Amino acid sequence: MGERPTARIPVASESGYHSPQLDVAVRLNTNESPFPPPPGFVEAVAEAVRGVDWNRYPDRSATRLRAALAQRYGVTPGQVFAANGSNEVLQSLLLAYGGAGRSVAVFEPTYAMYSQIARTTGTRLLKGRRATDFSLDSGTARRLVLGEQPDMVILCSPNNPTGTPAADGLVADLEEAVGTYGGLLLVDEAYGEFAHGSAADLVSEDRSLVVSRTFSKTWAMAGARLGYLIAPTWCVAELEKVALPYHLDALKLEVGVLALDYADEMLDRVESLVAERDRVAHELARLPVTTWPSAANFILLRPESRPGVEVWQDLVDRSVLVRDFTAMPGMDGCLRVTIGSRVENETFLDALREALR
Ligand SMILES: *Cc1c(COP(=O)(O)O)cnc(C)c1O
Repeated sequence: MGERPTARIPVASESGYHSPQLDVAVRLNTNESPFPPPPGFVEAVAEAVRGVDWNRYPDRSATRLRAALAQRYGVTPGQVFAANGSNEVLQSLLLAYGGAGRSVAVFEPTYAMYSQIARTTGTRLLKGRRATDFSLDSGTARRLVLGEQPDMVILCSPNNPTGTPAADGLVADLEEAVGTYGGLLLVDEAYGEFAHGSAADLVSEDRSLVVSRTFSKTWAMAGARLGYLIAPTWCVAELEKVALPYHLDALKLEVGVLALDYADEMLDRVESLVAERDRVAHELARLPVTTWPSAANFILLRPESRPGVEVWQDLVDRSVLVRDFTAMPGMDGCLRVTIGSRVENETFLDALREALR
């Protein structure tokens, strides 16, 4: 081979998404649901497979799925955009509203995919910072936004990996700020069902606010790769131009509609995970670790008696996988544990007690 082609700079220098998929007994590292979806749902999907017109392209406008989501959120189908996970929603937004010569602001520490997708789409990244307790106050956030006037602002609420929900009024304040110069505010509510309230209630045609959600976490469907955005119709129209035609396959469209029939079961699970989260937080308070209040299905913790990386490895040796954030700026020594089933949480707590000894 002669000269090997190189990818363009932001791609070639990208290290990719790193969350090791290790073979362990207890996987508490990617905020998945510990429970599979209800058996009735799985049966309904099996039935739906037989009804798919496999030789035909799927419904490009995802009519039934968008209608079902619109009904759930009290918006019109034209105010719903669906994609292969909320990561693809995010990429679509940055393809449409970011890109060369444009910028996006985030408040770190936060979800690492924002900066990665900013880089791969050639969007300049502006880094705001959360306070040392990971809260974000309106004054700080507005100063960055009004000073730099980024084309997009992303607020993760509850924030991953810290669990912090947006303070009251923050979304409205930021929406007002981006509205003064023509920016767009994205509130990423991947964990929204675990918290109180939703910014989706504020979405309207005359506000520059969009809210993304996903079936991956609360709906126990990380394997399905389905996420969506509640947004003004003018925004959805632009996103449809950057999405590839037929990007949602025929089965996924069915799966999304069927899942919404099981909303009650989903909310029951959310409730029991929230109870488990509070119980695990209570147990952690008795150990030599610092924790932060979480409105999501995970808890951030920092071991105080030993370095976080060593504790992470000790947990892996005991077949418990949590997420290692010790190398992330502003998160020295921090680990993030997803709330699992009661048995998984007990296994984690036992392993942690031993690792901290
Ligand atoms: C998990 C996660 C997502 C991505 O979810 P998918 O819908 O599975 O792509 C988006 N945002 C945050 C903050 C997440 O934690």
